[in-house]
Amino acid sequence: MSESTATPVEITTRPEPGRILLKAPRRGKPPKHLADFDLAGRKEFLTELGHPGFRASQLSTHYFDHLTTDPQRMTDLPAATREEMVAAAMPQLLTEVRTLEADGGDTIKSVYRLFDGALVESVLMRYEHRVTMCISSQAGCGMNCPFCATGQAGLTRNLSTAEIVEQVVAGARRLKSMQGLEQAEHGTEATRPLRVSNIVFMGMGEALANYKASLGAVHRLIDPSPEGLGISARGITMSTVGLVPGIRKFTMENLPVTLALSLHAPDDELRDELIPINTRWKVDEALDAAYDYYRQTGRRVSIEYALIRDINDQGWRADLLGKKLAQRGRGWVHVNPIPLNPTPGSKWTASRPGVEQNFVERLRAHGIPTTVRDTRGSDIDGACGQLAAAS
Ligand code: SAH
Repeated sequence: MSESTATPVEITTRPEPGRILLKAPRRGKPPKHLADFDLAGRKEFLTELGHPGFRASQLSTHYFDHLTTDPQRMTDLPAATREEMVAAAMPQLLTEVRTLEADGGDTIKSVYRLFDGALVESVLMRYEHRVTMCISSQAGCGMNCPFCATGQAGLTRNLSTAEIVEQVVAGARRLKSMQGLEQAEHGTEATRPLRVSNIVFMGMGEALANYKASLGAVHRLIDPSPEGLGISARGITMSTVGLVPGIRKFTMENLPVTLALSLHAPDDELRDELIPINTRWKVDEALDAAYDYYRQTGRRVSIEYALIRDINDQGWRADLLGKKLAQRGRGWVHVNPIPLNPTPGSKWTASRPGVEQNFVERLRAHGIPTTVRDTRGSDIDGACGQLAAAS
């Protein structure tokens, strides 16, 4: 598809400290796409477009199973209407504008332009036994956390379900195209997985503030092929700043998806400053909601904790966090400290290694499983909190 001629969206200005945008600005909506709907909705969509409903299944196989939108390859569709059907039902939503690699090619950040000029990023990370994709749910973010580059750039708009799903499909295609190469290098069998096994909603945006589209994307990711991509729900992590009503709503979906809570401080005084939404929903309310999520789904919750030198890394804060988690129960939670990744204009840096180690040990002493998160792609601004998509 040729690039959109729509007027580019204005670039959002840096939000004032503490200002939160829970509702995204209303902007033009992206074109509708097959991936916006479940199978029943796709049939209706095709009918609206003037095609028989059963084409929805065929298109779904091409898109979710073969990962293709090339009409030439869809020989099961009538030659006369193929092109037009595909253009209408599966318009290209993402235009790749940049790709950056780090870690010897094992971390790949992609920057995409959307139909209206908004930019989003996703990151593909290859490991020995899994492939994790970090995806965006909004262009920008309204949560305004002062240590996060995305938060500092403000919120442009919500992504549609298909715009979220397309990031994963693009990553899956990239992996598929690596297959030949890897086989040539390593003989007949590629030694590492070439399928996306894990997805974290830890790119740009607060997914629970774009609830409907994000939930739709979760369904497209986990629905078995060819209705969806057939990724195990257990491999998916929904990360939130702590929108308590959103967590509660997501709990009711009862999906075996992991919840990650970006806590970063165990006390309201500091968390009010680090996570502005804490002025609305407090540490204990967020922890209670996370605990109830575990109770409902049986999935162990992750607590994200970016260690910021001399800000939130004191031993007493580790103890307070350990106490608050342990008093709610055993085995329901683990903590993921992350050394803070540097962001432009911020004076904060990562904790010293000894301080980090002490923080971890103190949590463990409270019986809380704790593992420092490895951080990938910081040299390409692809790590947590660094996605700001300046093109
Ligand atoms: N809105 C979601 C996703 C945000 S990004 C959320 O708040 O969870 C995913 C994680 O990266 C969050 O835990 C976020 O707090 C963390 N993060 C943000 N900026 C960071 C930085 N500079 N260094 C390390 N982690 C950061």
